[in-house]
Amino acid sequence: MYLWFYLIIKKPKSACTAMKSVIIVVSVIPLCVFTSEFFDFSYQKPVNIETHVEIFNIYGLRLSKFDLKMIPLLPVVILAVVKNSWVDSKPLPAANFSFATNRLLDMSHSLSAETIFWQGGGYNFTLTHQDYVTEANLTFRSGHFIAGEHGGTHLDSPYHLNFSADGMADLTLHQLTGPAVRIDIVDKVKANLDYQLSVDDIQAFENKYGRIPEGAFVFMYSEWGQRWPDYRKVYNTETLADGRTYHYPGFHPEATEFLVQQRNIRGIGVDSPSTDNARSTETMGAHLALAKENRLGIEHVANVDKLPPVGAFVILAPMKSKAGTGAPVRVIAVLPE
Ligand SMILES: [Zn+2]
Repeated sequence: MYLWFYLIIKKPKSACTAMKSVIIVVSVIPLCVFTSEFFDFSYQKPVNIETHVEIFNIYGLRLSKFDLKMIPLLPVVILAVVKNSWVDSKPLPAANFSFATNRLLDMSHSLSAETIFWQGGGYNFTLTHQDYVTEANLTFRSGHFIAGEHGGTHLDSPYHLNFSADGMADLTLHQLTGPAVRIDIVDKVKANLDYQLSVDDIQAFENKYGRIPEGAFVFMYSEWGQRWPDYRKVYNTETLADGRTYHYPGFHPEATEFLVQQRNIRGIGVDSPSTDNARSTETMGAHLALAKENRLGIEHVANVDKLPPVGAFVILAPMKSKAGTGAPVRVIAVLPE
């Protein structure tokens, strides 16, 4: 009796709807018999004929003493049915975690044949489709893609430069999520296309907004996203094959070191092609400062102009490739209310 009450009334979520219906029907029958016969189960003792005497029979509607004894059970059955239908109409707890559309910011560029890969790549994103028809005449489309690891909006794993550090599949969800801050260097980049975000820029930011939280992702905002997806504008050169002619901004190695050592950040993101600026492609100081401490770099980040300086939270969803040095990443920012 208590189990029935517990399953149906108290903990209705513990059983699926079909199960609950079966439990109600199956459990109500013996309960009725139990109540009506006062332990006189028919297979044990002769049926109490008296309880089954018909009181009236009008137009086929019969009422017996047995039916009268059922009436006290009616509120319990109604309560069980009402309670269960009410629970079924309630949203699942997961609905509490949904966000208004305007609170979600997509910070990734789409992948296509036009997507920018380092120096043109050689393994630009190529998607090939094929249609298949089933015996039931249903047509579905499937394909395969080929792409370099470091193209479009992508994540550099620490393994990119530190071969004892985490590759893409080693990264935990903890490493891939954290508060987001945005440091604006738009004016400085207008004056110097090879500008490096400096420790001074970080300190100026903190003086205005407060200390960068632990586990943060720090995004550089240089308005470089406006140049996407024009190769020449993004690398700022007429000779794509020659990296020495490139001009674009990045993080200064000292600033990266400061963020990793003093602020314990999870990673940095840039709207330009590389966390290091164009003049540092040989020494890769910012890349090294991240990789040696197992931190992340995100390159070609989109929509940085729409990210507020503070208050957002970022979720990185990259491909989980074993021993991957990098991978395309969906960068999802959850904006403050
Ligand atoms: Zn990369």
